[in-house]
Amino acid sequence: MPAPDDVYKHDVDFTTLALQYPDFAKKLKSNRQLDFSDPESVRQLTKTLLHRDFDIAIDLPEDRLCPPVPNRFNYILFIQRLLDCTSPDFRDGYNPDRQVIGLDVGTGASAIYPLLACQQRPKWLFLATEIDDKSRMYAEKNIATNMLQSRIRLLSTDITGAELIPSKQLERFDRIDILTTNPPFYESQESMLESSRSKSRPANSSCTGAPVEMITPGGEVSFVSRLIDESTLSTNRTRIQWFSAMLGKLSSVGFVVETLRQKRCTNFAVTEFIQGQKTRRWCVAWSWFGFRPSSAVARSVGSGVEKKFLPPPTDIEFDVHADMATLEIRTGEEIGKLDVLWKYVPARRAGMLMSKGGDVWSRKARRRRVHQDHEMADRDDDHEKDEKDEEQEPALVARITLSAAVVVDSRVAGSAKTNVHIRHLQGQDSVLFESFCGWLKRKIS
Ligand code: SAH
Repeated sequence: MPAPDDVYKHDVDFTTLALQYPDFAKKLKSNRQLDFSDPESVRQLTKTLLHRDFDIAIDLPEDRLCPPVPNRFNYILFIQRLLDCTSPDFRDGYNPDRQVIGLDVGTGASAIYPLLACQQRPKWLFLATEIDDKSRMYAEKNIATNMLQSRIRLLSTDITGAELIPSKQLERFDRIDILTTNPPFYESQESMLESSRSKSRPANSSCTGAPVEMITPGGEVSFVSRLIDESTLSTNRTRIQWFSAMLGKLSSVGFVVETLRQKRCTNFAVTEFIQGQKTRRWCVAWSWFGFRPSSAVARSVGSGVEKKFLPPPTDIEFDVHADMATLEIRTGEEIGKLDVLWKYVPARRAGMLMSKGGDVWSRKARRRRVHQDHEMADRDDDHEKDEKDEEQEPALVARITLSAAVVVDSRVAGSAKTNVHIRHLQGQDSVLFESFCGWLKRKIS
């Protein structure tokens, strides 16, 4: 049974945990608290939570990173939501039949991301890389202990660490849905020590980390910049739908988003991990595909992240003074005038719109269209144009959903209101989406 998403909404109750797990009970202090400065206690907590909440058994070496479970679970929840709202069939929500393939770069001794992801979602598969021999050995063992060898595979990778994405190894997979990574955070031994000194107690994830796990030249921003660079290579950008990385510093979020923008990436998501967190962590995900996540997933941050670092909204809503039936007709009529594909399902009060070529609604676009039609009549290369169209990703796919809006006083005649929700599902250009929403609002209001 998968654990509920909010399993760490409240602090873990150590007393209850101790009653169920004698090994954990031995680590509790007389005041029923845990000594977070003791690596063995922290390891025991991780093992116990993995077992109680996910039915996962792991063994961890003393000299490697001990992953805090709530934090790692938050990352898994984020990628679940991200994939659930960007599936190529535009289905919204968890599809238990969808086979997802993940790739975890630097899986560590625990292999915690692949284990959690596969345990929570029975159809998912994971590939993983790890350059540290000792961690690799433990990861293999942990995968086997949980009988997940058929669903999680360690790939060989360049052990110098020069390459983050093992592109050659990925060639036999048509598509990877998500890449996850938890980069080494620190630039140097000094910055690592300094960070733990400045905290009131050591972050429980860092107390047992080996240098290869914790330190990378240039810190996490340099690691993620390398990942962004590798993600732009055509073999990676067309094979892997989402790239993502956890970040340990708020300042890294802005840096990573700016780097993505410089590379002209328009489709990204920023989130902050909240549930059960003692230390703040963020995650940025980006894609070169056009499937766009909902605003709730792509812009879910606390007050720390500045608005300017968030992607543009993909959900726009407004109320129209009209009853549902009138609005259904009006919307159908207006969209029917456009050169777009449009399918409305009355039972769901929702329709899907696809514009292959982009803006066909503005006055300018309509003038251009008339001009082109005249030109076309003189030429005979229609066929060629159609073929080209087929290869291209549509410029805009949106779902329009109508629902009864809350009306303050329903006794007043003519006070019916309908809510229009437009969701940007696919397309690289958010200005195009906004322009469409603006046009529709003017036409049907
Ligand atoms: N994913 C684990 C471990 C994260 S620590 C967790 O979240 O707990 C970072 C890991 O990345 C370390 O195990 C380190 O050995 C590994 N690593 C560093 N550079 C790498 C590279 N280029 N390719 C693969 N793994 C790498």
